Amino acid sequence: MPVINSIAAQSAELAHWRRDMHRWPEIGHECHQTARFVAARLREFGVDEIREGIAGTGIVALIHGHDAGPAIGLRADMDALPMDEETGLEHASQVPGAMHGCGHDGHSVMLLGAARYLAQTRNFAGTAVLIFQPAEEEGTGAAAMLASGVFDDIDLREIYALHNFPGMPAGHFSTTKGPIMAAVDTFEIHVDGQGGHGAKPHETTDPVIAACAIVQALQTIVSRNIHALEKVVLSVTQIHSGSADNVIPSHAWINGTVRSFDRGVQETVRRRMAEVVAGQAASFGVTARLDYVPGEPAAINDPDCATFAAHVAAQVGQAEIREAPEMWGEDFSHFLDRIPGAFVFVGNGDSAALHHPSYDFNDETAPFGASFFARMIEETLPLRG
Ligand SMILES: [Zn+2]
Ligand SMILES: [Zn+2]
Repeated sequence: MPVINSIAAQSAELAHWRRDMHRWPEIGHECHQTARFVAARLREFGVDEIREGIAGTGIVALIHGHDAGPAIGLRADMDALPMDEETGLEHASQVPGAMHGCGHDGHSVMLLGAARYLAQTRNFAGTAVLIFQPAEEEGTGAAAMLASGVFDDIDLREIYALHNFPGMPAGHFSTTKGPIMAAVDTFEIHVDGQGGHGAKPHETTDPVIAACAIVQALQTIVSRNIHALEKVVLSVTQIHSGSADNVIPSHAWINGTVRSFDRGVQETVRRRMAEVVAGQAASFGVTARLDYVPGEPAAINDPDCATFAAHVAAQVGQAEIREAPEMWGEDFSHFLDRIPGAFVFVGNGDSAALHHPSYDFNDETAPFGASFFARMIEETLPLRG
């Protein structure tokens, strides 16, 4: 059974909505216009209930099936990235410094496509709970919606989400039976020494040398302190210090990210970072402070939900269970922390990479994703008899 016919017939309209959304990207929690657009479509479809303004601009909509039964959640993100678009496309961003560079415009439209089908057909026993979330890129939208209490009277049995995947053909799906997206922590290291003349280093305690040594020593944590089969990344991505060729500065600043899946590994990295920073600083006579900020947790699929999602995806297109997760972060992990479910990739074809200025969501993907969402409701909540 391929893409649902009535959804395929609306492909042009889905693409039209998606391009509209793409022209007017909104960042973080400020998805006001996007949320109004989504809510207007949901009202047209005749969903049973819409809850708006959740944690700012989030939306939760309920569609009841022909019979009563449990509630299943489907989630899409709506937010864009703070970057300039360089696609040159007719529907390119009209907002300087904002771009749908991760395809969340496509995710929202796929869920809208499913919403219209489900509101028209209602061939299920239970409630479809459609979740439109802001601020995924900041990693704060999911947690804010959960904390808002909007789900307090909804007993979500399972929850599912899609993310487009450049390089995988449109119509292909993949997921994992466990970890799928990494925990994303960030860190800053402030190194303070004693500056002075570049010609008289012996009269200074040089934070540049200390910062370089700290960055080198940090590379030993993954290679020497963590089991070789664990998946973890420690990347230093910024060092800033100094202002002139003849001035030894008194301050250096280091910034980076840690990606992991296992909480024990995450804790070991954090502890070793503190020890390495303190030890290196002492050896150079400078002081250094590590600010380690845990971000969203790892996204861990429920094995049964993932297996079922792959089974349903195989009805719509091609599906595979893959072994390896991705080292990106995804704040859907906050939902998966509380509710069994699965995060599923859907192919975006031969597009530029996510977060690249040339990226664009592939409109051929939308009917596949919308059909997957719709079938997930019909298959997890089958009508009796
Ligand atoms: Zn992204
Ligand atoms: Zn994304």
